[in-house]
Order: sequence, then structure tokens, then C-alpha cells
Amino acid sequence: MACVFCKIAAGEIPAKVVQADDAVMAFHDIAPRAPIHVLVIPRKHIASVADSADGDRDLMGRMMQTARQVAEQLGIAERGYRLIVNVREHGGQEVPHLHLHVLGGKALGPMLARAT
Ligand code: 5GP
Ligand code: ZN
Repeated sequence: MACVFCKIAAGEIPAKVVQADDAVMAFHDIAPRAPIHVLVIPRKHIASVADSADGDRDLMGRMMQTARQVAEQLGIAERGYRLIVNVREHGGQEVPHLHLHVLGGKALGPMLARAT
């Protein structure tokens, strides 16, 4: 098993876990890009949204709900936060195990630069 997030899910690589249940885990990003930067992953290996199946619908919903709970737990829910999911190469995905970025703790500004 070479996947770094599968190893975190299995407890083989340490992570600062915020929340975990039987299907989903949330832990602090190793290189935070905001004062709060948490990753939410399914324990099951799904490479990306593009690789998910119709049967993953409940699991992906649980990831969103976990993001909401993490934001409440870490005190960023009231002022708001950003959720990001990068998909494959053009989406800038570096770790090929589905994950939701939860970013907050400051005003994050405009989301995207102009494409042209
Ligand atoms: P991506 O670019 O794939 O959407 O995001 C991958 C994220 O995983 C990056 O923000 C990166 O800092 C984080 N990351 C990569 N390896 C590890 C690790 O071993 N532990 C933790 N906690 N985060 C990691
Ligand atoms: Zn994996």
C-alpha cells in the first residue's frame, strides 16, 4: 500500500487527527496554507472525485458533514471557511486519495485569478 492517506487512515503514518469515525477521517494538513487547514478523507481508497462511483454518494456526503463538524469544532464556522477539492492533474491534485481541504481562520480573499 503506497498511498500516503491510506497509511494515515491505517495509523501507519502519524497525523494530528481532529475527528475520525468508521468511514471518514479529518486531520491537520502537514503544510498549512491558512491558520486552519484540515483535510477530510474517506478511509476507503478513492483516487479522486473523477474516480468515485455512484455508490460513494453517502460516503462523500459524510465527508461534507465532517467538514461542517470540524469547522464548528475549530471555531471557524461562524465567520466562514473554504472547502476545496482538487481533481487530477489540471486540478492540482498532488495526493491521489480523495480529500476535502477545509481552510479558514482568516479572510481568504478571491478564490481564483482570472483565467485569461
Ligand atoms: P492536493 O494538492 O492533493 O489537493 O493536497 C494534498 C495535501 O496533502 C497538501 O496540502 C499537502 O500539504 C498534504 N499532505 C501531503 N502529505 C501529507 C502527510 O503525510 N500528512 C499530512 N497531514 N498532510 C499531507
Ligand atoms: Zn489511498
